[in-house]
Amino acid sequence: MKILSDYHVHSSFSGDSSVSPEAVIEQAISHGLQHLCLTDHMDYDYTDGDVCFEFDPREYFRRLQPLKEKYRDQIDLCIGVELGLRPYLSGRHHSLIFSYPFDFVIGSIHLVNNRDPYFPSYFEGRDESGAYLEYFQCALQNLRAYSNFDTFGHLDYVVRYGPNQNRFYSYERYREILDEILRTLIRRDIGLEINTGGYRHGLEEPNPCREIIKRYRELGGRIITFGSDAHDPLFLGYQFDRAAALAKECGFTSYYIFRRRKPQELPL
Ligand SMILES: [Zn+2]
Ligand SMILES: [Zn+2]
Repeated sequence: MKILSDYHVHSSFSGDSSVSPEAVIEQAISHGLQHLCLTDHMDYDYTDGDVCFEFDPREYFRRLQPLKEKYRDQIDLCIGVELGLRPYLSGRHHSLIFSYPFDFVIGSIHLVNNRDPYFPSYFEGRDESGAYLEYFQCALQNLRAYSNFDTFGHLDYVVRYGPNQNRFYSYERYREILDEILRTLIRRDIGLEINTGGYRHGLEEPNPCREIIKRYRELGGRIITFGSDAHDPLFLGYQFDRAAALAKECGFTSYYIFRRRKPQELPL
C-alpha cells in the first residue's frame, strides 16, 4: 500500500518555514495525500541562534481548526506539534499538551546542552563519535524525564549534520545506549518515527537508520509513523515509497496515524 499520510510537516508557525498552512494543505492535496498532520516546532528556550521556535498555541488552533472543516472533503487534517525536549521543560510540555486538543505529539531532541547539532559549532573541537554519543545520552535522559508524546522524532538527527555524516556511523557502534532508548520507547508505548529528511540530507537512509528501525522491531516495537519533516511543501511525502519498503524489510506490516492522541493502524 502506498503511504498517503505525512505526520511530520512544518508551516509558517515554525520559525524556519515561511509557507502558510493553507499552502501546505493545498500542496498535500495535490500530492494525493489523504492524511496530513501539521507538527510545528515548539522549542521553548531555544537559544542557539536568533530564530524563535515557539508559536502561540491559541492562535495555532484558532487558525488551523477551521481548516480541518474547510478541507474535510479533500484531506484529513490533523493538528500536531513537535516538542523540542529538554528535561527541565517537562512541566511546560505537560501543560501545553493537556491545554489544547492536539491530535499528535512528536518528541524530538534539537538541543544538547544548549547547542543544536544543526550548527557546525556543535562538532568543533571534539571527535564526531563523542558528539553523536552525547546526543543519544541526551535523548535517553529526556525520555526518562518526560514521555507523554506519541512518537520519537528523527532519533539520529545528529548524524545529518556530522562532518562525516553516516560514513563511520552504525547502530552497532552505539548499540548499548540505542537499545536502552528503544526499550524505553517500547515500554512506554511510544512510536518510532521514520523521518525521510535523512534521504534529503544525503544519508541514503531515513532517520533513524535502517538498523535502528530493525532493532526496534526485534525488541518488540510496533508503532512506526512516517514524516517527511518538510519545511517546504515540495518535500511532502518525500521518498515515502522507499521508506515503506525499508520498513517492510525490517518486519513491519503496518504503520500508525493519530487522531486526538489515539493511534490508528494502517496497512503498509
Ligand atoms: Zn526536528
Ligand atoms: Zn521537524
